[in-house]
Amino acid sequence: MFSTESIKRVVIKIGTSTLTHSTGRLDLRHLETLARVLSDIKNMGTDVVLVTSGAIGVGMSKLGMTVRPSELRYKQAAAAVGQCELMHIYDKFFLDYSQVVGQILITKSDIALAERRQKVEDTFETLFELGAIPVVNENDTTGVDEILFGDNDTLSAEVAALVDADLLIIFSDIDGLYDKDPREYSDAKIISRVSGISDDIRALAGGAGSKLGTGGMVTKIHAAEVCFANDIPMVITNGKRIENAYDILSGNIHGTLFMK
Ligand code: GLU
Repeated sequence: MFSTESIKRVVIKIGTSTLTHSTGRLDLRHLETLARVLSDIKNMGTDVVLVTSGAIGVGMSKLGMTVRPSELRYKQAAAAVGQCELMHIYDKFFLDYSQVVGQILITKSDIALAERRQKVEDTFETLFELGAIPVVNENDTTGVDEILFGDNDTLSAEVAALVDADLLIIFSDIDGLYDKDPREYSDAKIISRVSGISDDIRALAGGAGSKLGTGGMVTKIHAAEVCFANDIPMVITNGKRIENAYDILSGNIHGTLFMK
């Protein structure tokens, strides 16, 4: 198991549903807590990377779109507006705790092509060296399907591998991976530890015949596979309790730990 001292670098991913209210507008209370907790972790001497979703959702609400557009150009326009709003708020909230943030927008090809991967890696390392907190999202505005990861769970795992993180924490709208559908079975229990991705685990996440296919869990299991391949522990935990990050860093897991 790990401890706060052994975690020198952590990637923290936050999903749209944790960042926003059901209206699509930013949940400022959560964002403020997020900025405070991540700043404090940085103050402990740990390198922190924030992988944030929310650009499309926040942009939609700002542009008065009530239904998620199906046409790519509208999604890209929404991302352009939302990303701006997100960074504005992060910049402001992190500054309250004397932290500097830097925006990194990437696509799959930035990580897949060796030369570009090296450049992105150099940028991360330089930001760490300068004491800044990289805030990452997919470059939804210019990306086309073929070069997009399409989901930030996978993106966060790829970023964790890229920066050689010691831990990935995924803050989600679910407490962890359950042994059965918690909406259907009142006795459903959180699986506290997963030591490898088997077909049974894939089935729980929404494979054949399962009712747990929230969509959200499938991409998290994929992220876990990337983490297993790179020997990086990963935790899925509820984003409504950001302060649990302190416990998680010290090895007291709330949620599901994916670790060999
Ligand atoms: N990059 C997308 C956004 O910022 C989010 C993708 C995801 O939620 O996984 O809107």
